[in-house]
Order: sequence, then structure tokens, then C-alpha cells
Amino acid sequence: MLVLAIESSCDDTAAAVVEADRRRVLANRISSQHDIHRPFGGIVPELASRRHIEMIQPVVAAALQDAGLTLDDIQLLAATQGPGLVGSLLVGFTFAKAVALARHLPCVGVNHLAGHLLACLLEPLAPDFPYTALLVSGGNTALFRVEGPAAFVCMGRTLDDAAGEAFDKVAKMLGLGYPGGPLIARLAEHGDPTAFNFPRAWLDKERFTFSFSGLKTAVRNVLPANGRPDAAAIPDICASFQAAVSEVLVEKSLLAARENGHKRVVLGGGVAANQHLRVQLAKRCREEGLSLFLPSPIFCTDNAAMIAMAGFYAFQAGEISGPDADAYSRAHLH
Ligand code: ATP
Ligand code: FE
Repeated sequence: MLVLAIESSCDDTAAAVVEADRRRVLANRISSQHDIHRPFGGIVPELASRRHIEMIQPVVAAALQDAGLTLDDIQLLAATQGPGLVGSLLVGFTFAKAVALARHLPCVGVNHLAGHLLACLLEPLAPDFPYTALLVSGGNTALFRVEGPAAFVCMGRTLDDAAGEAFDKVAKMLGLGYPGGPLIARLAEHGDPTAFNFPRAWLDKERFTFSFSGLKTAVRNVLPANGRPDAAAIPDICASFQAAVSEVLVEKSLLAARENGHKRVVLGGGVAANQHLRVQLAKRCREEGLSLFLPSPIFCTDNAAMIAMAGFYAFQAGEISGPDADAYSRAHLH
């Protein structure tokens, strides 16, 4: 089944064409908005919506062209319905509903988090179900028991910041720019991860719950009260921060897999692109005899190919979105 998918939940306008039953990505276009938000050190929702409006049609057209197809070939529309910035979501979701209406095609609204949890299916070596998944992104940090392609059970999530948000906020404190994750990762390559002993929030009683606000404060406490830290100390701070985040993510993922009796562990979301996290998780999974499935970095951060997969399976499970379906800014996946 040929799926045209759209993702516009945040600051990327993305469109993909995927032959979903064969899990073959025919086109995967992403138009990033980082340039317009960078001066503000974070996303400005109004600017994001306006840029989505400008980009949605050309990005969809480019994806169809890359795939060598036209709308006549498409059999299903899928678009992120939520959660995210509602002004941004409305652009992509309304576009998809309009195309579906005009072309007499079915349209399905997709939960963005389901997309991240299924991104690993786009890889040649994809996991079978069930699996334990760590979703670690800009707005979410949570562990899931994934029982099937449309059956997700949340085991626990963050009480405060998401891991990606912590990366972005620490980068801002260090004056590095936006988005912070990749910048911190790059600087950390030249730093000592043991230079600062930053706290790990294990939260023993709620074993699958995360917290990153204490770690963020601990980083702030090693910085001078006014002004920027010594440039020479920045790589060590980045490496120590990254190590603290990764250790908790890795160990809680293993704990969750053990609790579920799963042999398969999956990573998803923007922070899953972090090389240190990938290497540490791979090492620990090997030690514990677990199989690890990692999406390529391009399928970790926001993309529409993962939305095509989630949309396809939601459609197969009987979901469909009529013209009056609304985008939603907040929603948990259960
Ligand atoms: P959500 O999926 O929760 O709605 P989002 O869609 O905004 O949030 P993603 O695009 O999935 O988030 O991920 C973006 C986040 O990933 C940002 O916080 C960014 O800093 C982080 N990130 C991206 N690459 C890396 C990296 N290499 N290391 C660490 N963090 C990274
Ligand atoms: Fe995302």
C-alpha cells in the first residue's frame, strides 16, 4: 500500500512516500526550520506555523517527485494529528485531510509518539513484536511495552523535563545554540565524562519514571554565577552531562526489558540519534543478551516516513479520520 505521509508537529515540515506493507521508503523529505528559530534559542510557535504553510505544498510535491509517483498512485494519506504545537499540526493534518477529500482517499491521523516507536521498522533489520522501547525526544522520555504495531503500553515517563529538552536547556546555559543535542554531543567527544560527577535520578520506587531537572540544576551550579564558563571546561561539562543522562536511560531500559520478559530493545526519538547513548546501550544489551534495534539517525529525529508506518498500521487496525477530525496539542500514548 502506497502511503503519502506528512509530519508537521514541531519545527520540521516533512513528507514521505512509503510502500508500507513492504516497509520501503520511496521518498523522505524534511525541510528544517532551525535557521528561523536559532536567534531565539528555541521554537517560536507562530513562526513555525507560518513556515509550515509556505513549505507544505513544495515539500509534498518534492516527495512525490523523488518517489517518481503522482497523487494518482497514492492509496492512503497519513499525517501527525498530535501531540505537538497545535498551529503547526493544523497545517500538515489539514493539508492531508484536504488531499484525501479531493482525491476520495482514506486519511488517518497519527500519534507522533507511535511514529517514533515504530521508526525502527524502517530498517532492514527490524524487530519482531513484542519489544521494549525507550522513547527519548524533545518533548518526551518514556518507556513502552510495544505489543504490536498499534498496541502500546506506557510503563513510565519523565516527571519533569524530557531528555532532549535537558540537552537543549544545558546547551542554552553554555551559550552553544539551538538545537542543543547535536552540539553537546559534538563537544562531548573531546571531553572527560568523569570530570564532573553529575547526579543520576534513579527514583527507585517508581522504577520506570525519569527526572532530569535536578541534573540541569547541577550543571547550572558548576557554571559561574554571571558570564560564561571557561571555554576549556565546556567539553568536560558536555561529556559528563551526556554520560549522566545516558546511564539512567540505558539502565532503566534494561530494567524494563527484564520486567517485560522481552529479548528485544528498541530506541526512538531525536535523542536516539546520540552516538554515546547508542554505544552505551549496545554495550549493555550485549552484556545482558538482549537484541538492540536502532533507527538510523535520520529516522530518529522527526520525519514523515515513521508517520507513514504508524498511519498504515492504525489504518489496518480500523482507524480513519474524517474531515472534521481535530489536531490535538497534548496526548499520552497509553
Ligand atoms: P517529541 O517527539 O517528544 O514531540 P520533538 O519532535 O520536538 O519532540 P524530536 O525531533 O524527536 O523531538 O527530537 C528533537 C530532540 O532531540 C531535541 O531536543 C534535540 O536536541 C535532540 N537531539 C537530536 N540529535 C541529538 C543528539 N545527537 N544527541 C542528543 N540529543 C539530540
Ligand atoms: Fe518527535
